[in-house]
Amino acid sequence: MRLRVEALEAGYGKAQVLFGVDLEVVENELVALLGANGAGKTTLLRAISGLVRPWSGRVLLEGQDLGGLSPAKRARMGLGHVPEGRQLFPLMTVEENLRLGAAFLAPGREREGYERVYGLFPRLAERRRQLAGTLSGGEQQMLAIGRALMGFPKILLVDEPSLGLSPRLAEEVLLALKAVAGEGVGVLLVEQNVALTLDVAERGYVLEHGKVVLEGPASALAQDPRVREAYLSL
Ligand code: ATP
Repeated sequence: MRLRVEALEAGYGKAQVLFGVDLEVVENELVALLGANGAGKTTLLRAISGLVRPWSGRVLLEGQDLGGLSPAKRARMGLGHVPEGRQLFPLMTVEENLRLGAAFLAPGREREGYERVYGLFPRLAERRRQLAGTLSGGEQQMLAIGRALMGFPKILLVDEPSLGLSPRLAEEVLLALKAVAGEGVGVLLVEQNVALTLDVAERGYVLEHGKVVLEGPASALAQDPRVREAYLSL
């Protein structure tokens, strides 16, 4: 078991957003987190990585309770987070952005990290000296994922990576995440592109108003009439 979320409740001020969420992600698994705008998907990712403090419930990484640990500590323990909007440093090069993701690594592993990222995204290798701000949207998303991978995460949380990308690039990014999962990382993916996501994911959860209302194998979710009506417009 890699990541386990138990009975998680969280919100902002007095407004509760998450109501008793249970969820699991294991190694080698790409898990989709689906739901309408405002359902609480981003809040859930932020609660897992420590950016939002849960009101109650637990987040466990390989059995260890992360409660009270800072986001930096969680990152060091193997939790990678690719936030919505990428949050790159536009005036730094591709490689300098990647290096920031290696801040917690033993010095010897940095090279291994570059090799892994450039192997996964050859386009970044060609552009390693280019300023991040001059990359295309798809390349910036690859860089944001690559930066998180530089920390060799056990679990990778990814928030809407296909936002603003063409269908072809969106597919390329999701297939890259599938390859990341294939290397042993558990990936929890928030995506608006439901059809494509259920195509690449192993399992999925559907969040509505802060509660998990459906979960199961991605193939079963893709056939579920509620999913087809609400998220696939079928
Ligand atoms: P989307 O798909 O639109 O990104 P989401 O499922 O990720 O939606 P969240 O971003 O988690 O949803 O938001 C859930 C609820 O929490 C929304 O009602 C939102 O307005 C509210 N919310 C999010 N961030 C904050 C914040 N920093 N302060 C107050 N309320 C917030």
